[in-house]
Amino acid sequence: MSSSQLWRVAVGAPLPEALTYSFANSLQRGQLVNVPLGRRKVKGLVLGPTDKVPDFEVKSIDSIDEEYAPLPEPFMKWLEWLAQYYIHPVGQVVQSAFPPLRKTDKQRQSKRPPVIPQLESDSALDLTDEQRKCFEDIAKQSGFATHLLFGVTGSGKTEVYLRLLDKVLKEGKRGIVLVPEISLTPQLIQRFARRFGDKIAALHSQLTDRERTNQWWDIVEGRKSILIGARSALFCPVEDLGLIIVDEEHEPSFKQDEKLKYNGRDAAVMMGKLMNCPVVLGSATPSLESWKNAQEGKYQLHTLRHRVANRSLPDIEVIDLRHQKSDDEEKKKIIDKYSHLPFWLSPALYERMGEVLERGDQAALFLNRRGIAQMVVCPACGHTRECPNCDISLTLHAHSHLICHYCDYHENFKTKCPDCKEGELQAIGLGTELVETDLARLFPEKKIARADRDEIQSRADLEDLIANMESGEIDILVGTQMIAKGLDFPKLKLVGLVLADVGFNLPDFRATERSFQLITQMSGRSGRHVKEGESPGLVIIQTFNVEHDSITFARNHDFEGFAQHELNIRSQLHYPPVGRLVSFRIQGTHLGKVEETAGLLARRAYALKSQFPQYNSIEILGPAEAPLSKLRGQFRFHLLIKTTQVSAANPFSRQLLGDQEWVPSGIKILIDIDPMSLL
Ligand code: ADP
Ligand code: ZN
Repeated sequence: MSSSQLWRVAVGAPLPEALTYSFANSLQRGQLVNVPLGRRKVKGLVLGPTDKVPDFEVKSIDSIDEEYAPLPEPFMKWLEWLAQYYIHPVGQVVQSAFPPLRKTDKQRQSKRPPVIPQLESDSALDLTDEQRKCFEDIAKQSGFATHLLFGVTGSGKTEVYLRLLDKVLKEGKRGIVLVPEISLTPQLIQRFARRFGDKIAALHSQLTDRERTNQWWDIVEGRKSILIGARSALFCPVEDLGLIIVDEEHEPSFKQDEKLKYNGRDAAVMMGKLMNCPVVLGSATPSLESWKNAQEGKYQLHTLRHRVANRSLPDIEVIDLRHQKSDDEEKKKIIDKYSHLPFWLSPALYERMGEVLERGDQAALFLNRRGIAQMVVCPACGHTRECPNCDISLTLHAHSHLICHYCDYHENFKTKCPDCKEGELQAIGLGTELVETDLARLFPEKKIARADRDEIQSRADLEDLIANMESGEIDILVGTQMIAKGLDFPKLKLVGLVLADVGFNLPDFRATERSFQLITQMSGRSGRHVKEGESPGLVIIQTFNVEHDSITFARNHDFEGFAQHELNIRSQLHYPPVGRLVSFRIQGTHLGKVEETAGLLARRAYALKSQFPQYNSIEILGPAEAPLSKLRGQFRFHLLIKTTQVSAANPFSRQLLGDQEWVPSGIKILIDIDPMSLL
């Protein structure tokens, strides 16, 4: 052997493969090194030795980064799996495995509150029989297994997680808890901090780089044993891992929708496998992917059918908005009586709100749309104001400006139509802002708060809102899906879904599943703390589609029925989880070039399929204009690959994309394995 050996190094550049460098001293796989790349100096991760001498001049590694110990082997395998499975440059995958700042960089004094609050500790609750059974069934096994904890809203899943973590700590091991970014509320962190005190670290998007770096080292150097975080917390290498928990595992936000398009839930299962530790996925509305795995015995199913302490699930009432107008005399009287109500508010919901508020309890109205109105239209010429960057109508906010909800383009709202210069633009549709304004008129003495992206822009805003809900300062909460997740307010007794139909008709095969989840999760906020004998919480669903599958199953709290029904439909159409899906998005600023490239990609796909018999099962859909056909100035087409032969999807996609040298300049093809959104 020569004195200098060759090494494969993953560097932070959009290169499909690792690069080869030489180094005179000894090196180890998993070590972080400094290397030259063109004229730059970059960081790289050593993947291993190689004897393949490349046909270009091999450069030498500058130095080893002594700050980092080599990454553990199972973690290295996990990073390589991500690159391989999601077809993403390995050098860009490994970038996520290091904190943003150096440990030794100077720290500035910070006035921010500590990431983990110091609280008085509480003790474990006595588990209910159901909780105990789930806990014991999961705890008695060691090594890798995936458990699906299916528990209705308020059934005490978190208490089961806490017990499992407690056991793991007692064994001298450590745990990761993944939750959707939006559920990483102070409420949640406090719950863990009260039980485990200073053993907790947290990683989420609201941290400064310095805070993130400190939390990262606290875990890596073993000062903390439980890491709570959003999906990216998985990239913090935790040694002696004894448990991974993924709460609200069905949440689409576990999927990263840019760069490395990984699903945090699936990546967690793979990590559990490589580290040989159990993985617990929890939800009141499991994803059909996980449900199917449980049905087939790949995951172990554990069920919590009841809320704790004999609290009942809320009563669900469905209001048919189609029958609000009528010729019937009796009904006419009713209509007159309620003629002061805005069009979006049924008498039933209005009356129930009055009753709940009268008793000093709280009501929450949910609508997954912000602003005053979806669009402004000119009745004279039909012109609608659209975003100049996106093919999307602009939403009216505060009666004064128009905003694009995709790229945040703003313009002032002028009533005169800019197109025909005659008509007066009219607002059409409904948003949370309008709901709030109308409620302020109907309940003038009540305190109303709105929770959407316009109002809640920081973690501090959300903390204030939660505190004010808990203290009873707020009477009525109006919000988007921001308030559907995980929140636990004792006095909240009525939840109203203003228009359940939003989202029913999205051009996405998961639209019904999403609606079911949202309705169930939102309903689950109601009456979580009613005592035995008290009347249960109430949910009122307003809709134009009473017969919609998501409503008929959700009103009966029937997840299992829904899952079976929906899986049937998916299996007929070969959609996930029955088949596997890969989406290719072709985008660029030149429409003609985008369309042409999409056509070219499709022709390559057909050729590939006919050439290789192992690709027989592949179905090619498109190319077609994406539902969001122009976004932030980029035109978008997509091509979908669908197959029931799961193992064919990845090699086919890899081959289809090829070296990408055939792709014209200015055009990007973005590949998404197991896409969660087809827009
Ligand atoms: P989930 O996550 O399943 O929706 P949570 O874990 O938030 O439910 O529990 C709902 C409420 O019930 C919480 O206020 C929690 O403190 C309480 N709780 C959980 N387990 C028990 C128990 N064994 N005894 C009494 N209260 C419990
Ligand atoms: Zn826009």
